[in-house]
Amino acid sequence: MALKSTIIEIQDLHKRYNGALAVSGVSLNVYEGEVFGFLGPNGAGKTTTISILCTLLNFDSGSAFVNGFDCKREPGKVRQSIGLVFQEVTLDNELTAYENLKFHCYMYNMGKKLAEERIDEMLVVVGLSDRKQEIVKKFSGGMKRRLEIARGLLHRPKVLFLDEPTLGLDPQTRTNVWEFIRTVKRSTGSTVFMTTHYMDEAEVCDRVAIIDKGRIIACDTPSTLKSSLKGDTIHLKTEDDEAAMKEIFERFGLKAAMTEAGLFIIVDNGEKFIPRLFERSKTGILSISLKRPSLEDVFLNLTGKKIREGNGHGKGIVSRHGGA
Ligand code: ADP
Repeated sequence: MALKSTIIEIQDLHKRYNGALAVSGVSLNVYEGEVFGFLGPNGAGKTTTISILCTLLNFDSGSAFVNGFDCKREPGKVRQSIGLVFQEVTLDNELTAYENLKFHCYMYNMGKKLAEERIDEMLVVVGLSDRKQEIVKKFSGGMKRRLEIARGLLHRPKVLFLDEPTLGLDPQTRTNVWEFIRTVKRSTGSTVFMTTHYMDEAEVCDRVAIIDKGRIIACDTPSTLKSSLKGDTIHLKTEDDEAAMKEIFERFGLKAAMTEAGLFIIVDNGEKFIPRLFERSKTGILSISLKRPSLEDVFLNLTGKKIREGNGHGKGIVSRHGGA
């Protein structure tokens, strides 16, 4: 297997605000080419960490390197290597999609020919080629987000930072943006680092670090994190729940929980269990469904609390540099 090269390296990072620790000993590595999710509830320290990585905020101790450059000593070089999409829309509504992108190319001192090439290339990636000359204020929320991501990629950054990329978007648009983030990764090879407090968003990442109270409490692929929780839940409806419960205990030694909604059984591997259950079942099975542990369950297991979903009153990174 090829060795993965590290593109973001954080060691024992600490950041205090007025004495209170917001980031408390964060260490992690992000590998080149992955979509990395930084998941945690509000106040966990996500924005502080991403702001440090984007050189928008100083830190007290530890180290942070992006693309081999020191966030403390080489902020200019870090900024050259990154693209950044803020929570709030930073496009100019009165300009066309093309003009918004052109302005960014100008800021990055790109020559005219190169700028035209990159703009066309990125509009294809984000599926907005046919809207190139349209005024941005006519765009939907999802289109604006895609255009911002295209803008963040124009100078071919090694890492694209997305701060809560689907905050405030409707469910359908959120799904589209996730698909699109994966497309970006495939077609540009950029590493994507995104903060989120949405579990379903974290599911689309290659790896996820879960942060709570300024500390990383787990870091792995979503499937490994979930498989650390032993047990799938089988939800079963039968013609006679009591008889089925007895039968399941006799055959498998498993105790099902009987509720008004049917039977619930925790098993090691639901996929293997279901065919075995059907094989010689004496009680008629009306319906069966399988629920795998979710990242929410992982978070609950690690912290004893739930990540509150849907409280997306984003505050986000301070846009001091107007958008890297
Ligand atoms: P998240 O992005 O995960 O919601 P933040 O990084 O914004 O978390 O915040 C981490 C902690 O630091 C929280 O307790 C928050 O109240 C505090 N904090 C964030 N920004 C400031 C600030 N500018 N001044 C004082 N405290 C802050």
